[in-house]
Amino acid sequence: MRFTELIDQERVSKQLTGMVRQGRLSHALLFLGPEGSGALPLAIAFAQYIVCANKTPEDSCGTCDQCRKAAALVHPDIHFCYPSVKNREKGREEGISSEYIREWRRFIRENPYGRVTDWVRSISSENRQGNINARECHEIIHKLSYKSFESEYKILLMWMPEYLEKEGNRLLKLVEEPPPKTIFLFVGQRQEQILGTIVSRTQLVKVPPFSVARVRQALMENEGVVESIAGQIARISEGNYAEALELVREGQEDLLELLRAWLNGILRHQAIQVSSWVEQMSAARSGKETQKNFLRYFITLLEHALRLKYLEPGQISLLDQEAEFSTRLMDRIDWIQTREIIRLLDEACYHLERNANSKMLFQALSIRLGYIFTRKPVPL
Ligand SMILES: [Zn+2]
Repeated sequence: MRFTELIDQERVSKQLTGMVRQGRLSHALLFLGPEGSGALPLAIAFAQYIVCANKTPEDSCGTCDQCRKAAALVHPDIHFCYPSVKNREKGREEGISSEYIREWRRFIRENPYGRVTDWVRSISSENRQGNINARECHEIIHKLSYKSFESEYKILLMWMPEYLEKEGNRLLKLVEEPPPKTIFLFVGQRQEQILGTIVSRTQLVKVPPFSVARVRQALMENEGVVESIAGQIARISEGNYAEALELVREGQEDLLELLRAWLNGILRHQAIQVSSWVEQMSAARSGKETQKNFLRYFITLLEHALRLKYLEPGQISLLDQEAEFSTRLMDRIDWIQTREIIRLLDEACYHLERNANSKMLFQALSIRLGYIFTRKPVPL
């Protein structure tokens, strides 16, 4: 994996290549980025950059022998460690990473921005918790006791050190005084859940979430999603690319069109249209997820519209048709009404998550919105 193959985290990749170029590469780095920020593919690309025999100031070459092995995740000096589950087939109590390396290669190939829950589910038929256990720590100490095989450095990339159990303390000495030419790359999401003793021994590399515009662009370029829908999904997922991809897989309903049809029915008092819309919505293809996404989309659109009207015009990343829709909606309602609608939508999301009957919920919501639009007090 090269930096140029990733969704751009340009500032961070520059920082990383700079460390190598200026010979100030720390022997232990902690990549810290929220879910879906691409911290893992970034660390994998960095490992490839370190071993590449032909690197440029910006990126690995992608064609040398070292790069090819790194890209296939088979480089003998790049070791991976990640949460695993009990390995039934081998009759062991605790599973370790090397027993799941094939599944790992497939996961990264198909799902480089994937979440840890997706990973654990992919190796466990039951609903198990993954962990990084004592056996794994022994294995790491053992692996790193060898000299590197092909490149100058040997690298241990650990994904989700949050899953290290207390035995992780066995690694401390190794992290503090590693064997020569050994580099630790930890990739995590929540600093407060990582052993403090590890955090204090590593150099922090902060990976920010992607911007909405970046996610939109990536969905269009990599997944072939049309602009209007890519924009909606990017907004709902708030920079989490793993979540954005999941929304793409769930189906690409045009949420703005759905919203337009619903509100037009309500504003024009077309009871029949509204009730057939409610029927359709409650029978939506992917059920509750689509319904929740729809409500979340409406909320983010209203929040953007409020900011557009009252706070910072021109600063909002709305698509043209969304901006036009929001402006027309804000012409009809003031900020008190908007706040009231957001409150109702929030409440509806809450009830949907707790398995409310969606048909009744959307019916009630339609009636209450009607009251808010006409400035009548909403009945309880
Ligand atoms: Zn190379």
